[in-house]
Amino acid sequence: MDNIQAIRGTKDILPSEIIYWQYLEKTAQAILTKANYQEIRTPIFEQTPLFERGIGEATDVVGKEMYTFVDRGDRSITLRPEGTAGVVRSYIQNKLYASGGVDRLWYSGAMFRYERPQAGRQRQFHQIGLELLGSNAPRADVEVIAIATDILKALGLQNLTLQINSVGNKEDRQNYRQALVDYFTPYKEDLDIDSQDRLTRNPLRILDSKDKKTQEIAKNAPSILDYLGNDSKSHFDKVCNLLSLLGISYEINNRLVRGLDYYTHTAFEIISSDLGAQATVCGGGRYDGLVSQLGGSETPAVGWAMGMERLILLLEQLQPLKATTPDIYFVSRGDKAENQALVIAQNLRHHGFKVELDLSGSNFAKQFKRGDRSGAKICLVLGDTEVEEGTIQVKNLATSQQKTVSQQDLITTIKN
Ligand code: ATP
Ligand code: MG
Repeated sequence: MDNIQAIRGTKDILPSEIIYWQYLEKTAQAILTKANYQEIRTPIFEQTPLFERGIGEATDVVGKEMYTFVDRGDRSITLRPEGTAGVVRSYIQNKLYASGGVDRLWYSGAMFRYERPQAGRQRQFHQIGLELLGSNAPRADVEVIAIATDILKALGLQNLTLQINSVGNKEDRQNYRQALVDYFTPYKEDLDIDSQDRLTRNPLRILDSKDKKTQEIAKNAPSILDYLGNDSKSHFDKVCNLLSLLGISYEINNRLVRGLDYYTHTAFEIISSDLGAQATVCGGGRYDGLVSQLGGSETPAVGWAMGMERLILLLEQLQPLKATTPDIYFVSRGDKAENQALVIAQNLRHHGFKVELDLSGSNFAKQFKRGDRSGAKICLVLGDTEVEEGTIQVKNLATSQQKTVSQQDLITTIKN
């Protein structure tokens, strides 16, 4: 019988890689905490209508990419394809807005999308993201963007470009929508099949198409920035000016509409030139309509999500991080010695040392070999003689110097 393999589009994160993940999580968390964002953890699956209503039925995510199934109770369940809908659901359900002010939340975890797996694109992948709920100030947009750029900077990542656009409010988009229909209709036959369909359902999405020919046609499409009303225009100008105030460089990309329906005003992406085709490491924007659309009260909000796998790919290119190694490798042989080694190892850990105990019971030579390979600086040796004498041997693995000390002096000896 063949061994069972992991599901296509999923990946194990192995002990040799986990160091990158922990570094990423730690770095991001420290920066999020400094701006007083609180972590929230929502379930990995939700009722399907949450995503249909929240993300929008005409989007690729809902239309083609969701992992949806009927459970044993005949409910339609979906593995979350993104984090915002669940966070907003929780925000409404748990009345997190009760405080009346601004809520700052972050999350990280697995997301699921049925896509063609390739480098930087998986079916189970991970995002870290934040949501700032309760403010419509352009400063809020800039706060979240600044946190994203701070995280990427703290990770040491380079060759990143922040692209920004405004998708306006509902009314602006209605006007723009008609302009797009007028523009694309004569080219209908040349658009990819999905975009032909979008022409009637959601023409904005055509700008998001990854089809080469459609992209070529879209190059000359009208710009949404010419369709913004005064309020939207003023919001966008303020965001741009505040970014400059913080010294954050950006490019305006008037084709940037993003894959999800709930965005209003600011939309942005951070793109890496070191990743090939799957180049976007962070995507986000303002979504003033979502909370009310999901049954909450009118609450303006802005947020982003970063694809963690793509960040890890960049980190791996940047600097080799070493897997953790023990401080001490503990070798013992003989019944009494092995039991006593267990006790001493535990005691050393309580004193803050990282200790790996050799459990093999094999001869000393074999255990020493493993000690050499372990990366530890010190090897402790306990045999029958040492047990009888109340001593222990301390070997410095770098210099191969070895000395016998009394067990009572062990901690002071290895601290020096
Ligand atoms: P893309 O255009 O690459 O499909 P998207 O617009 O669908 O991205 P978002 O929904 O904005 O992506 O998600 C935010 C980020 O999550 C992306 O910028 C990317 O870094 C990451 N991401 C999205 N889908 C995947 C996936 N299938 N595998 C790995 N990372 C992903
Ligand atoms: Mg996508």
